[in-house]
Amino acid sequence: MFESLKNLLKHFTGSQESTSGISTQDTISSAADAGHTQYITLGQFNLGTGSIGPDNRNDIDQNILNQMYRAIASGLFNVPVNNSIPEICVDGRTNKNGYRKSAPCAAGGTLSIVYGGDLGSNSAATDINEVQLTTQTINKLKEKGHQAGVHGDDHSDCGCGACSKAPTIYQHITERINDLSSLTNQLGINITESEKESIVQQAKNRLSQAGFFAENRASVVQAAQDSGADYEELVGQHNELGIALNTRVGTTVDRSAIRSKYGPQYDMFVVDAWTFGNAAKDINSTGNEADEQRIAKAITLQNVATASVLGHGSLPIIPIA
Ligand SMILES: [Zn+2]
Repeated sequence: MFESLKNLLKHFTGSQESTSGISTQDTISSAADAGHTQYITLGQFNLGTGSIGPDNRNDIDQNILNQMYRAIASGLFNVPVNNSIPEICVDGRTNKNGYRKSAPCAAGGTLSIVYGGDLGSNSAATDINEVQLTTQTINKLKEKGHQAGVHGDDHSDCGCGACSKAPTIYQHITERINDLSSLTNQLGINITESEKESIVQQAKNRLSQAGFFAENRASVVQAAQDSGADYEELVGQHNELGIALNTRVGTTVDRSAIRSKYGPQYDMFVVDAWTFGNAAKDINSTGNEADEQRIAKAITLQNVATASVLGHGSLPIIPIA
């Protein structure tokens, strides 16, 4: 599935080889000619109910922005990682020293596997809640030798949007499944009718299960830490201008390097989509291929739905093939 995403993105973005040696001036002029309409946006799929996005900013230079999108798409900011599954959050911010861990990203870090694993599972077990599921998932990942990770920030109770808004994200999946899957379909990930039905049903089950979602959202991040997940404290406001959708195996996107090239207000969400299939394989308890596929797609949906809840319709998706 993710091989097909990679192939599609290659087609989508043209040959990497032809863009890698391009001069800065060429990059600016060709990007300026094309604008950023060459990239799909959340709004094109009727998604993006949040506020984070370029149209809500007045501190950005459009030419620099286009140059940045082109450079990110060409893989200029990709750096190697050790883990093969999501470990840190897509959040574009950094810690107080201006850095993030070099690790694969998904919405909520390891919580993406918790929520995606839950939504993609066929189990209607109602004897487990979100906090217990978080502990169970992290223990399972640790057994497989993976490091887990979550985050907060310096000014909120629960500074991770994927966690603080998890019930809203589940709700968004039940209400907007067709828009969300139109977007994934555009990226080469086809979610079948029966997969959609199963994932939506599981989201509805959890929303109606009394006490599944913790009232104190920070307690979920705390449970992850108590199970051994690393914690990052991010600082400042959200300045994300796009979603870097990375399919280059073994890499992520270096946020600090983007800031030092374009300025401190130029941030990106980073989604390391190449890790989703690996995470699904590790978390699937049945060993059944169809279950594994559905979990990988549920992780994908949890990421797109999080972007749609937090992000504005103007937020573009910048593929890195
Ligand atoms: Zn987060």
